[in-house]
Amino acid sequence: MAVAPPQFAEKTDEQKAITDMVHQFVDEQILPNAEHYDHEDSFPEPIVEQMKELGLFGVTIPEEHGGMGLDLTTYAMIVEELSRGWISISGVVNTHFIGSYLLMNFGTEEQKQKYLPKMASGELRAAFSLSEPELGSDVQAIKTSAKKQDDGTWEINGQKMWVTNGLLSSLVFTLVKTDPQADPRYKGMTCFICEKEPGAEENTGALQGFKVPPKIKKMGYKGVESTELVFDGYRCPAENILGGEADGLNKGFVQMMDALDLGRVNVAARGVGLAQRAFELAVKYAQERKTFGKAIAEHQAIQFKLADMATQIDAARLLVRRAAAMKDAGERSDVEAGMAKLFASEAGRFCAEESLRIHGGYGYSKEYEIERIYRDAPLLLIGEGTSEIQRMVIGRKLLQRHKI
Ligand SMILES: Cc1cc2nc3c(=O)[nH]c(=O)nc-3n(C[C@H](O)[C@H](O)[C@H](O)COP(=O)(O)OP(=O)(O)OC[C@H]3O[C@@H](n4cnc5c(N)ncnc54)[C@H](O)[C@@H]3O)c2cc1C
Repeated sequence: MAVAPPQFAEKTDEQKAITDMVHQFVDEQILPNAEHYDHEDSFPEPIVEQMKELGLFGVTIPEEHGGMGLDLTTYAMIVEELSRGWISISGVVNTHFIGSYLLMNFGTEEQKQKYLPKMASGELRAAFSLSEPELGSDVQAIKTSAKKQDDGTWEINGQKMWVTNGLLSSLVFTLVKTDPQADPRYKGMTCFICEKEPGAEENTGALQGFKVPPKIKKMGYKGVESTELVFDGYRCPAENILGGEADGLNKGFVQMMDALDLGRVNVAARGVGLAQRAFELAVKYAQERKTFGKAIAEHQAIQFKLADMATQIDAARLLVRRAAAMKDAGERSDVEAGMAKLFASEAGRFCAEESLRIHGGYGYSKEYEIERIYRDAPLLLIGEGTSEIQRMVIGRKLLQRHKI
């Protein structure tokens, strides 16, 4: 059931055409199959193959490199639609999107030529890796390190954690420490484009020293794998330093933080999509279920829940649009991206819970879609910075902007 999102009126013809196409794809291919893949916790290969055909891996990659060359605003609209179907599907494209953004903005011409066309087609998929077993929020505490060898390669050693698409990706944009003496610490970090064999638990040949342990078992966000990565003497050529050795060495932290602004808009759009679906299910169920002789939708308490959900969804969507538009315009958007991420992910959690409550006992049953959405929603509060970290970033940046 589609409850027409009011934002359609605000889309350009091109945006309307592509989001209508994705909406239909979600209704026909994702929603009928998500429960199956979630239950099995298996990778939704057929859906991903169709996404490649639709060009969804190259939405923001320039046309000269084989992509669609669309902006972040349009991308966020697409992510919202995909997440309305299942946030795991947007998880398959999101780290890829961050990788392509890093290449487009910081990569050398050779790196762009080498990777972007294959990324646009989905032949190569990308992951990105900051977190480690002992850190997530405190990115500057990264311990995984790279040391230059006599043959000019960089040897990477250490362990990474929670890498979305960690097994099936071909490229991992990995932030590691390259100057342990750097003060402040962020000035001693570099982003390496680590190549790997997709699907291999242990890489061999030139890629040896890169291991992918079995995927982490999770409460939700199933289907897309989250893994640790173990670097044990993995040799990365110097030309795989993002931006090249001369310009990219020790610049990784700033590059990654720039990409995280984008990642935050991305997760915020997921929150809107997930909340939208939870709302659609609630509106439908509330009109079908009867108590005390009438549809529960006729009880004021239920109407208030629907009103609060719809209000939060609209507000979240507007925040996402603003943050994306500012980034597209090249304006500083750290506060706005943080606000969008904070509000939309909390709106996703709120709407998932309210919809579950409206479903009563059936919401707790695996027969009902809301049960999956309720398990998926908390991820949005964590990935790309927790709500606490968003508040820290927003507060700090606001004070910088309004310094007296
Ligand atoms: C399913 C999943 C997929 C993920 N995918 C990726 C990925 O692809 N790549 C990647 O690099 N990472 C990924 N992550 C990791 C994610 O980014 C981190 O989990 C997140 O940043 C939080 O870090 P942490 O888990 O280490 O929590 P911690 O940093 O240990 O924080 C624990 C708690 O303390 C709070 N806290 C921390 N510092 C402060 C402070 N200064 N003030 C107040 N409160 C604070 C946090 O908000 C949180 O509530 C993923 C995580 C999950 C669960």
